[in-house]
Amino acid sequence: SLPSAQDFDFFYFVQQWPGSYCDTKKSCCYPTTGKPAADFGIHGLWPNYNSGDYPSSCDPDSLYDSYQIEDLVGSMQEEWPTLACPSSDGNKFWEHEWEKHGTCSESVLDQHSYFHSALQLKNKINLLQILKGAGIEPDGGFYKVSSIKDAIKEATGFTPWIECNVDEARNSQLYQVYLCVDPSASRLIECPIFPKGAKCHREIEFPAF
Ligand code: 5GP
Ligand code: 5GP
Ligand code: 5GP
Repeated sequence: SLPSAQDFDFFYFVQQWPGSYCDTKKSCCYPTTGKPAADFGIHGLWPNYNSGDYPSSCDPDSLYDSYQIEDLVGSMQEEWPTLACPSSDGNKFWEHEWEKHGTCSESVLDQHSYFHSALQLKNKINLLQILKGAGIEPDGGFYKVSSIKDAIKEATGFTPWIECNVDEARNSQLYQVYLCVDPSASRLIECPIFPKGAKCHREIEFPAF
């Protein structure tokens, strides 16, 4: 039979702000390798369909293998830190992301390429620098969602989707930033569809970490 074509349409590249992950009643735990830098971290690179649906856990036979990414582990610890409790070295988080999402883009990216591509995207898109350049700082202040999106659009050329969470004082916070990436995971594209999700408040908190 013919080799299977790519079986998804694009990726969401999702970055999380650690201050917001931690600033909820679930709280957070620093990785065993130490407190991450006050920077956005990778959450995942998620294959998606143009319809908004997405595949998940596509290949139970393709197990996460930390030996395949040994050369990346230092960068992974810096750019893709885990904040879930209890503390771990990150492999649990990366394993989850590979098995749930990475296995659905295996026709394009093997395990090493999958993680390497995400790290390269993170290096190309410095969200914190982009926001700081627009006067939007992780200082506990409130900023318009429209200003945050405009700054990212101005710097990258593409409109992001913002996901908010709610802290214990019920403030709407900047939690995750979604950008869309072509199926080879090499360049940003306009999102074919934005994720479904609750609206942020018009102004949201950018908490410190
Ligand atoms: P939540 O329900 O918290 O929004 O999402 C839980 C998880 O479902 C995410 O971390 C991600 O693994 C997956 N997920 C949620 N929305 C999307 C989406 O639009 N596309 C893809 N590919 N995965 C998603
Ligand atoms: P997703 O939401 O991508 O399906 O899965 C997130 C899973 O990874 C959850 O089981 C969560 O506990 C775990 N996890 C580990 N570290 C992190 C982290 O730093 N951020 C998020 N959002 N989830 C993490
Ligand atoms: P506007 O389009 O006037 O900037 O925003 C209208 C409403 O939609 C506001 O409550 C705003 O926070 C919300 N909104 C705008 N863009 C986004 C986004 O990317 N994600 C989420 N979750 N809400 C948004």
